[in-house]
Amino acid sequence: MTNDRSVLLFFIDGLGIGTRGPHNPLDNLDGSLPLAVFQNEEPETFLDGVVVPTDPCLGVPGRPQSASGQTTILTGVNAPAQIGYHKQGFPNQALRDIINAHSIFRQLTDAGVAPVTFANAYSRRFFVERPRWVSATTAAVEAAGLNFRTIDDVRAGAAVFMDYTNRFLIEKGEDVTERTEAEAATVLASIVAQNRFTLYEYFITDKVGHAQDMALAKVVLTSLALFIRELLKRLDLQRTTVILTSDHGNIEDLKSRNHTLHQVPTIIWGAQRERIAARIQTLADITPAIVSELLHR
Ligand SMILES: [Zn+2]
Repeated sequence: MTNDRSVLLFFIDGLGIGTRGPHNPLDNLDGSLPLAVFQNEEPETFLDGVVVPTDPCLGVPGRPQSASGQTTILTGVNAPAQIGYHKQGFPNQALRDIINAHSIFRQLTDAGVAPVTFANAYSRRFFVERPRWVSATTAAVEAAGLNFRTIDDVRAGAAVFMDYTNRFLIEKGEDVTERTEAEAATVLASIVAQNRFTLYEYFITDKVGHAQDMALAKVVLTSLALFIRELLKRLDLQRTTVILTSDHGNIEDLKSRNHTLHQVPTIIWGAQRERIAARIQTLADITPAIVSELLHR
């Protein structure tokens, strides 16, 4: 039986729980409140968010990677354990098979939870010339036969680009206007209000982590924290649960260009936060927690 609650899964690529120090752009960063989580410290919370340090290593040796980590988050299947290693970049056939069978979008729609949506817009090029390799999120959306949002939707105030400020699109020559964090938050909040489940994906954090660019990391994280604050203010947190999580650490330690072995912060806001937090230990627990939240009274 379904209820009328809703969930936003806010996915951030490459954000782990690091130590304080000059290698961590989150340390002493102004206004970083929703994201400033450090090892061995009681986190400062914003709007009573609950922080659950979450295991991205999943019992498999090596550094956690995007394709297998995102597959795990979006299916509830321990993908690295299934394929025997942490897979970088884009899903291979084995991971796509897992996604096709177990995509969260598919689990929810099959159970009668609708509508569900991916809030991110795709650029025109994606539709004209489909890339040979697609992300786990793209594969998860396709597994449920959902439509992709477009740049026209961005223009109409009905989609958010991965770079929610639209600056990246403007640099690529798209005819869109720049958005403040508050304006982007208004658009995402309205999508969340119209859906039972919404996924939003942000991955500049991982790129900046690989580039080891401290100045850019501080700019990006300050803006991202502001976007999240503005978003939370615009949501009905009695009805909506927000689950923020990441696939692996990276940006929290700029000494190294690699992903880290750190736990990632799963941060949960909303009336049901404690109940959902109690279910989460690893990335494989995210999808089951969401499905349970939306299905049961
Ligand atoms: Zn990466």
